Amino acid sequence: MNIILFGPPGAGKGTQAKYLVKKTNGFQISTGDLLRYEIEKNSDIGKMILNDMNNGKFVNDEIVNKLIRIFVFDTKKKNKLIFDGYPRSISQAKNLDKLLKESNQNIDRIFFLNVNKDTIIKRIQKRKTEENRSDDELDTILKRYDTYMETTKPVLNFYSKNPNFHEIDGSQKIEEITSKIDTFIDV
Ligand code: AMP
Repeated sequence: MNIILFGPPGAGKGTQAKYLVKKTNGFQISTGDLLRYEIEKNSDIGKMILNDMNNGKFVNDEIVNKLIRIFVFDTKKKNKLIFDGYPRSISQAKNLDKLLKESNQNIDRIFFLNVNKDTIIKRIQKRKTEENRSDDELDTILKRYDTYMETTKPVLNFYSKNPNFHEIDGSQKIEEITSKIDTFIDV
């Protein structure tokens, strides 16, 4: 089952992705984690994306699409893809459609975790004390939220017509969100 987790930063995509990995025996593809790892390694990509990441801006589509491609075409991961933080723009959504088609796969579920700005700010500030991510400063959080609203909201319209699209109240407790997601997963 290929699943997309969709929603603003701090909506709980990562937490639910980890749950879904266990539940469906799948593979989490977190573009945020992949990009942070490039920075950690200080790779060529890492050097290119450092400023954008720290300013809450999106990383260039070409870079992200290249990272994603490897996972989609990995035969071990076929039909076990759990996307966390991708796609984030219409162009990424179209790219994903194309890659899935080429590799003979579909999107089976799309979960939109809907959360308001106040809840997100509180959650990310809490996460900052626990994980110390450099892009979790309040300023950056607000920029990331605005970037999301501008660029990612249209992706919502792109997917909301899909019969596999489900909107879930992401302001609920983790377990409540999980059990709601569970009602749409039959494995
Ligand atoms: P996340 O961990 O998903 O909140 O992502 C952290 C940061 O990584 C974002 O603020 C962006 O700078 C970058 N990023 C993650 N996923 C993408 C993506 N699909 N497209 C562009 N930039 C991304």
